[in-house]
Parts: sequence; structure tokens; C-alpha cells
Amino acid sequence: MSMQVIVPDGSKIELPEGAQVKDLALKISPGLAKHAIIGRVNDHEVDLTYRLSGGDRVEIVTDQHPLGLETLRHSAAHLMAEAILAEFPGAQLTIGPVVEDGFYYDIHLPEGVKITEEDFPRIEKKMQELVKKDSAFERCVARDEDDPVYRHYWSIDGGDNKFKREIVEGLKANGALSGKPDAPEVSFYRSGDFIDLCRGPHVPSTKWLKNVRLMRVSGAYWRADASREPLTRVYGTAFFSKEDLQAHLHRIEEAKKRDHRLLGEQLDLFHFSDDAPAMPFFHPKGAIIFNLLAEFMRAQLSRRDYQEVRTPLIYSDRMWHQSGHYENYLENMFFTKFKERDAANPELVHDNVETGRQMAVKPMNCPGHTQVYRHRLHSYQDLPLRMCEMAVVHRRELSGVRMGLFRVQHITQDDAHHFCTPDQIEAEIRLLIDFFHEIYAAFELHDVALELSTRPAKSVGSDEMWEKAEAALTRVLDELGRGYKLNPGDGAFYGPKIDFHIRDAIGRTWQCGTIQVDFSMPERFGLEYVGSDGARHTPVMIHRACYGSLERFFGIITEHFAGAFPLWLAPVQVRILPVADSFADYARDVDRELLAAGLRSEANLRDGRLGYKIREATMQKIPYVLVVGEKEVESRTVNVRSRDHGDLGALSIPDLLDRLEPRNVAERIASLQVPAGANA
Ligand SMILES: [Zn+2]
Ligand SMILES: [Zn+2]
Repeated sequence: MSMQVIVPDGSKIELPEGAQVKDLALKISPGLAKHAIIGRVNDHEVDLTYRLSGGDRVEIVTDQHPLGLETLRHSAAHLMAEAILAEFPGAQLTIGPVVEDGFYYDIHLPEGVKITEEDFPRIEKKMQELVKKDSAFERCVARDEDDPVYRHYWSIDGGDNKFKREIVEGLKANGALSGKPDAPEVSFYRSGDFIDLCRGPHVPSTKWLKNVRLMRVSGAYWRADASREPLTRVYGTAFFSKEDLQAHLHRIEEAKKRDHRLLGEQLDLFHFSDDAPAMPFFHPKGAIIFNLLAEFMRAQLSRRDYQEVRTPLIYSDRMWHQSGHYENYLENMFFTKFKERDAANPELVHDNVETGRQMAVKPMNCPGHTQVYRHRLHSYQDLPLRMCEMAVVHRRELSGVRMGLFRVQHITQDDAHHFCTPDQIEAEIRLLIDFFHEIYAAFELHDVALELSTRPAKSVGSDEMWEKAEAALTRVLDELGRGYKLNPGDGAFYGPKIDFHIRDAIGRTWQCGTIQVDFSMPERFGLEYVGSDGARHTPVMIHRACYGSLERFFGIITEHFAGAFPLWLAPVQVRILPVADSFADYARDVDRELLAAGLRSEANLRDGRLGYKIREATMQKIPYVLVVGEKEVESRTVNVRSRDHGDLGALSIPDLLDRLEPRNVAERIASLQVPAGANA
């Protein structure tokens, strides 16, 4: 007997009755079978030992796929739990999910017992022993508490685990473990002597778990409830290869050194206060960088025919009902209340005294821009119309996690909207992709990955519109020839989108830019243009931001450059240090000359030893330090120490100025232009 299953390219593959996922992998190719981790059968993840049925749609997930890595890490959590039970008698298991970058397991420890990082080597050693046993992860099921599988599970950590009891009570409430023939199956996974309640799937055996590392320990509460039992959360990570694990550990070390919150303090760039949660206070040096980001962007926008507008921060409720934000985005918005003191009793304050005048702070700029657009009638000849604004929006961050500039509630966006005809979408997208690459390149971010997300199940707009837009986006991306990732069905309900993921100096990726085609909002706000046929049409709106949030981009480049900002972005570009007080006048002269040349220069004339002042300038990562003494005064030179190029010796001021390029936005933009004939 044989059967047929369907693989992702739509073709059918013949297999013997009762064949497993791994048989299919082997039939496709031995190479695939070697890298196969799990299968996806009719959109459910299953083990390689899962038995297929005729007509199943099957995809083989390999070690190259994110789901493969997730499976590896999930399996590693089992292994760690087993090792902890072996090393810490009396420990009890609760839950152990996969998280970004790894996994954890929450453990309940007996009174007086602790797990600290010092215990990691022996837990890891135990794990390696288990790896060597090469035990298969084996799925087993129970419908009954008397089932040996269930009894094994129950006894594995002492037979009296109240957390397990709670979990089991939850299962029983759904009819499981009742012993009745129709009771839902509960699945467990056995590996060697260990067993855990689990949905699976897993890697085939423990030998896949060689490259595991425990990372840290923290406290947690059962059910994340501070009134419940305290637990110990042990974090770990796992990779398929030793190289990937090493690279990850290296990245973590580097990331610690580059943490923008620490650099923000060290370089005196910004701070946060509980009085304005998740809203940065930029200090003078931080404000210089922030403003340079804006200046650079404005210069690039105006070269591409954008028109800048200024729109209000706060709008009436009516606007947010019309835009759909009230319905879909309410929890993320800040609302205003009008208050008034009671005339008779000044202690008493009335809320919302002006009914019908609820206001909300904008979480997005689009509705404001539609108001500017519709203020006058447009003809097709006005399109594409590119409207930009360096605008502040506010979005509530419901999570209490503090991540510095990476998650702020006060967001400055380099926002813009292109109003265009459907036929113009393609050209606009082409312009934007080039534009964004040029911006990132200016910050030495050259590794940019694009993702295209297409029509989701629930969407607005006609089939024709979607097909046209997706075809245009696909064509532009194909032409580009850089490759891109397709996320089918992941687009916004109002249109397809392209996201830009940039890789920083230590290999982390950040989503920054986004381009979203929108068929819905122009209609909601009644936008029109007069076509060449004289009739009124609805334009398409393209939402786009390149930095995304200036605050977040600030954080990203701070970490990317490790605080050593390139000359054109450095808040202090040059610092002059006289070797003694008697050379202060000359230091001032040099400072004045550099300031006149447009540099951000300063002379450090305070008391203190030269060595100390040099160290201080080094700590502040100032690109150029000029030391002046008797020799320099006589020869009218400066002794130049470059942060990036070391000692440059004595230079005259004009010679120094020649070296300091690009030192401002205009020069940085000029440096990005390929000179004519350079490619000849
Ligand atoms: Zn599991
Ligand atoms: Zn928008």
C-alpha cells in the first residue's frame, strides 16, 4: 500500500503507508534528511517520527530554519531540567519555554538551596553527559493517571509537586486524564530516564544538544504572580554549531560594552526620569547628534522633492474615530482630560468639563497629513506628492521593560506620505529603496535585508488593487537583485509593505525603515484627485519612515559605533589641550580658528595634568585631540592625536582642516555621491 503527500512546491510524493516525516525527508534527498529537525504537517509542527497520512501537506524544517533553532532550544530546556534535578535534589520543575535568544526553566528549590552562576559548570557538565548518551526524544501519551507514562512524569521530581498538580488540574478541567476512552490525549516526552509534560516537537535525540550554554539566573514567581511562590529562573541558549554559539557569546560581550544606556551616561548624551517614563531628556551633546540626524534627513528629503509640513500634536476624538485608531489602537494612545476647580469648593476638581471635546495625542501623523492634502483639490499633475514631517508622536508602552532609547513613549519620526496614482506606486517604491540604502550607508550600515509582506486574510481594497501593488513591489525587489524575504499574508490589512532590517557592527539586526502601501486611509478621509479623464479618483497613500524613530536610531548608531561617532556626528569634534597655562592664549586662538571653520571645537583650559585631560578626552571618544606647547606656538602648528588613526604629529591648521572630512552634513552627503566617471 502506498500514499501520496503534498510538499510545499505543490508536487506529490509517493510513500509507503505508515511512512514517517523522516522517510519523506530521505526520499527527497539524503542531504535534507541530514539537516531535518522537525516537520510541519498541515501547519502543525511534529517530530520526524510522526506518521504521515495520505493527502497531508508536509514541509521539512531544517537546522537552517528559525523553527529548527526554536526546537533545538526547547529540547535543550528538557536537558537542562534533567541536569538540574540530578544536581539539586529536591528541586521541582514548573515550566520551561523558549524565549528570544534561548530558553529558560522555572525551578522551585527547597528551603536554603540556591542556583547561582557558579553552579553552571557542573550543570553544563551533567548536560554534556546526557548529550553523549544520545537518547532519543520519544513522544508518549496518557489518558489516565494510572498510566505508567503519567506515573513516571509525576514521580520524576519527588512525586509531590504542587505546581505540576496545578497544571494537571487545568488539564483535568478539560476532561484529560479521566481514564475514559474519549479523554483527550496528554503528551509527554521521554529522553533517557527523564520525562516531561510537553506538546513537542523535539530534535531527534540529545546528541543534537552539544552547543548549549547556561546564561544567567533570575527570580520569578509562579504564574508571574508576586503573591505566589518564588521560583528560580535559569536561562540558557543553544545553537546547532559551535561557531554560532561562540559568535553569539561574543556578541553579548560586545553588546554589553556598547550598551547605549551606559554610553549615554559616559558621554553625557541623555537621561531618563520617572517623571516622564520612557521619554528621553537629551543633553546638549545628545541634542547635537539628534539634530544632525534630523538635518541630514531634511537635506536628503529636499533633494527628492519632499515638502515639509507641521501638523498638530493633539486632535479631537472625531479624527481618531474616522481614522480607525480609536477602534484599533485605543490602548496605545494618550488621551487628554479637561479639568476645572469647583467654584464653591476649590479642593474639588472636575474631570472632562467640556463634553464632546475629548482630545488625544497623535500616535501617528497620517491623519494630520490627510488634512493638509484635502485642503485643496489636487490634479493628477500634482502627483506624486511627497509630504514629510519630523514629527513627535506618543505611544503608550504597556510593558514595564526599560530598554533606554529602544522603547520610548515619545517618538520622533522621520515620517512622510506619498500621495500617488496606482500607476506611480512602482516608481515611488524604487525611489524609496534607493533612498533608504543611501541613508543607512551614511551611517556605515551596509548590510540591509528587505522583507516583503503581502495580503493578509482580512484586508480592504479590491483584488485588482492588491495584485497591482504586490506585482509592482515584487518587480522592484526582483530588479534590485539583492534578494529579499517574502512574508506571505503578513502585510497590513490596508496594503502590502516592505521592511528594512539593518545589521550593525556586531551582527545584530534592527528593523528600521518601513514602506507601506495604503488603499484604505485615502478613502476614509475622502481624499481625491482629478484624473486626466476629468473624473475624481482616490489616490494611493504610501506611508514611509527610514530611521523609523529618531530616538531608537540614535540608540542603534550609538551601539553600532560604540559611542565613537564619526567626525561629522561627533558632538565635540576637536578638543585643544595646552601643556601648561602659559599656552592657554594660543589654545584659544586655535579654538577660534577651528570654530570659524565650522568645527565643533573646544579648548580645555581647566586646571589639571595633561595626562589626565588626554584620558578624559579618550573616554569621551573625541575624534581629534590637539596638544599645544612651546614648539607648536613657535611653528604655529598643533600636535594631532586622532582617535581612529593614532598620532599624526605636528600639522598647521590649514593642513589639519584638509584632513578633517567629512565634517558636516553637506560633506557627508557629498562623500556618498559617486563621482561622475568613477565606474568607468
Ligand atoms: Zn518539550
Ligand atoms: Zn502614515
